[in-house]
Amino acid sequence: MRILVLGAGVVGTTTAFYLQRAGHEVVVIDRQNEPGMETSFANGGQIAAAHADPWASPATPWKALKWIGQKEAPLLFHYMRYDPALWSWCLKFLSNCTQKKTEVNTERTLRIALHSRECLKNIRKKISLDYDHREEGILHFYRSEKEFELAVKAAETMRKYGLDRKVLSPSDCVKTEKNLAGIESDLVGGIYSANDESGDAHRFTQQLGAYCRQQAVEFATNHDIQSLIIEDGKVKGVKTDKGDIYGDGVVICLGSFSAPFLKPYGLKLPIYPAKGYSITLPLTKPDNAPTVSLTDDEFKLVFSRLGDRLRVAGTAELGGYSTDVNQIRSRFILKKTLEIFPDCGDPMGVDYWAGLRPKTPDSVPIIGKTPIDSLYLNTGHGTLGWTMSCGSAQVIADIISKKTPEIDLSGLSLDRF
Ligand SMILES: Cc1cc2nc3c(=O)[nH]c(=O)nc-3n(C[C@H](O)[C@H](O)[C@H](O)COP(=O)(O)OP(=O)(O)OC[C@H]3O[C@@H](n4cnc5c(N)ncnc54)[C@H](O)[C@@H]3O)c2cc1C
Repeated sequence: MRILVLGAGVVGTTTAFYLQRAGHEVVVIDRQNEPGMETSFANGGQIAAAHADPWASPATPWKALKWIGQKEAPLLFHYMRYDPALWSWCLKFLSNCTQKKTEVNTERTLRIALHSRECLKNIRKKISLDYDHREEGILHFYRSEKEFELAVKAAETMRKYGLDRKVLSPSDCVKTEKNLAGIESDLVGGIYSANDESGDAHRFTQQLGAYCRQQAVEFATNHDIQSLIIEDGKVKGVKTDKGDIYGDGVVICLGSFSAPFLKPYGLKLPIYPAKGYSITLPLTKPDNAPTVSLTDDEFKLVFSRLGDRLRVAGTAELGGYSTDVNQIRSRFILKKTLEIFPDCGDPMGVDYWAGLRPKTPDSVPIIGKTPIDSLYLNTGHGTLGWTMSCGSAQVIADIISKKTPEIDLSGLSLDRF
């Protein structure tokens, strides 16, 4: 079959990879001139099954209230904004803040993330990809006793679903990543996931895209997709600013733009953009920078070593589709980085970036068929788009190819909303 993949982010590109491998003719369509130029451009760089705990949990509404009005808070909510999509998303988010739903959503995310980690390893065995990747695990460190206790309980839940997580003392944290020594006295403990990974998601996407091109996948870049072509209840293709493109099936991988794109067809996708920021610090003294990927729980920041650069990402803002870089919030990330690793890089050479996480209220992506014949979804990957991309791409390729996917699909499709 000839399948159109809409969107060339990490999700669209991995989808194209698995569709091509399944024997389909594949066309990827994107408005940018290359793959991975929007949210997949400068993310936190973690392959983090360990972060499968959803944003919506019993503690989140209280934390969010506490953060209101704080310009540097991990979550900034533009609650004065008139935006029905945001309010409707927030109501669904709140309904997921129960203990029971937190556990259900953790299991669903982990199901995809663990599968995805294996898929990524298998891709690496078949293709040579160079994306500054490291297989040194992820260490999540804590400065608050209360948060650490909650995390240890959450780690038990994740262990039950197959994720290996090890609880560490502050001195074990420093043994795992020696450059945390300067803040050892602030730490109450850490949780280490040895099988998680890190790397540059943008380079990964571009290199996988280049491989797909060699396998005859067509990339229609610089094409702004305007609408679907639907005849007799079946999708036949898309209209773009460069003309119509036809196919036997269409997969939506448009990240945060999936929801507004599908609204005219009566498909209500509860995906809202959660803006996040990253900084990329060029390293002048690489020995003083971490090599193990890290998560600072207090400030919700993630650190990934990308060759001679340190990527640090975090914070979330709910307030529309702008990708403007807020100086206060992004400079806060730099400040916190230099507090932990004071003498490793050149602050004058920092690249600042902002991207829109395509966030569902339950933190689980939407994968599967739609009520429109031959129209499929692989979108809404939120904070873990790279982590879940390979697994969800393999799943949607299997669904389209009418093969039995390797993981259980319950609770992953649009039907759950
Ligand atoms: C600060 C930050 C840190 C993050 N850290 C991590 C991390 O450490 N690990 C992790 O796993 N995930 C992380 N994420 C999340 C991850 O980056 C995203 O989930 C992922 O990039 C989403 O990929 P995507 O392909 O769905 O979307 P995108 O990469 O945004 O791709 C969508 C594509 O659709 C195209 N498009 C949209 N509309 C149109 C249109 N009308 N016509 C043509 N083309 C269109 C866009 O050009 C774009 O290329 C982070 C995100 C942010 C913002």
